[in-house]
Amino acid sequence: MKVAILGTVHPKGLEFLRENDLEVIEVKNFENQILKKELKFVDAILLRTSILDKNILQHCNNLKIISRHGVGYDNVDLDYLNERKIALGITSTSNAVSVSEHVMSFFMYLTKNLSLSDSYVKQGNFDKRSELPDIFELYKKKVLIMGFGRIGKEVAKRCLGFDMDIYVYDPFLDGEFIKEKNCVPIEKEDGLGIADFVSIHLPLNKNTKNFISQTELKLMKKNSVLVNTSRGGIVNENDLYQALKSKKIRGAGIDVFISEPPESNHPFFQLDNILLTPHNAALTLECRARMSLEASENIFYFLKNMPELNEKNLVNKKFL
Ligand code: NAD
Repeated sequence: MKVAILGTVHPKGLEFLRENDLEVIEVKNFENQILKKELKFVDAILLRTSILDKNILQHCNNLKIISRHGVGYDNVDLDYLNERKIALGITSTSNAVSVSEHVMSFFMYLTKNLSLSDSYVKQGNFDKRSELPDIFELYKKKVLIMGFGRIGKEVAKRCLGFDMDIYVYDPFLDGEFIKEKNCVPIEKEDGLGIADFVSIHLPLNKNTKNFISQTELKLMKKNSVLVNTSRGGIVNENDLYQALKSKKIRGAGIDVFISEPPESNHPFFQLDNILLTPHNAALTLECRARMSLEASENIFYFLKNMPELNEKNLVNKKFL
């Protein structure tokens, strides 16, 4: 059976597939015509971030499973997969730790003046440390976690380690479950009004597009920090730009963009109160190895109908 790897992944997964006698092809050119040709007879696709819409998928004559290297799947036409009974897998156990550590890095960077402090020392201005803008602690600060799934829960654990007060907005969960994790369930608007830190961990869908826009940003405290490691489009980029430019909030950490990579003249690039990373929150070495292996295992176990398949990794099980 034949597996196409779309994009570059850690070798661990490729080794696993080859050791299990699957033929592996690596596709690094994502032009439509190339994809249609390369994917025509593959049984499985290991997918990073390129887009697989109906226009491409309808040319995949043998496809049985798409296995996402990650947990988000807004780059795949799920309705088409459901219609054709093609499985969609995710790597649900792999990346929550890596992303949650990234969130804590954003929190620290945006409150500790790290970049400016570093430049003071290197430029011989050590003695001017009292002139640096104020820096802040995370201790006893209020953090609002929006979306309390795999990643949101890992962020909460780390915030507890910093003795922060944790509020959670996730109306799909029982409040008691949130309380058991030493967090306080709260409504969206109330949470935004009291939080010093807001971290977003929602899926991108029609309900969460522009989930944070001008109205929500207006509710946030002047000294607050917003972090989005979930998906571009959940935060309205133009509204965030305006809020940061006018210092309506203290700062933002953004790992994901509406269009990736962002345009070279993206307005965010003019701001000094935003920290940008290239959608790499889940790309620690350890996490890349885990995702590559888990995505490959999903393919092998599914194609061979083996009980080792983690059922939680099959997004559209009920359609198969
Ligand atoms: P998850 O499915 O485990 O959790 C999502 C949570 O959001 C669920 O608890 C759900 O109840 C809640 N939710 C859904 N809609 C909501 C709404 N309208 N309002 C409030 N809560 C809502 O997902 P996860 O694995 O924690 O991933 C979270 C996000 O992070 C996804 O968008 C995913 O694509 C993204 N992600 C990004 C990276 C990265 O590299 N930056 C890596 C992994 C995941």
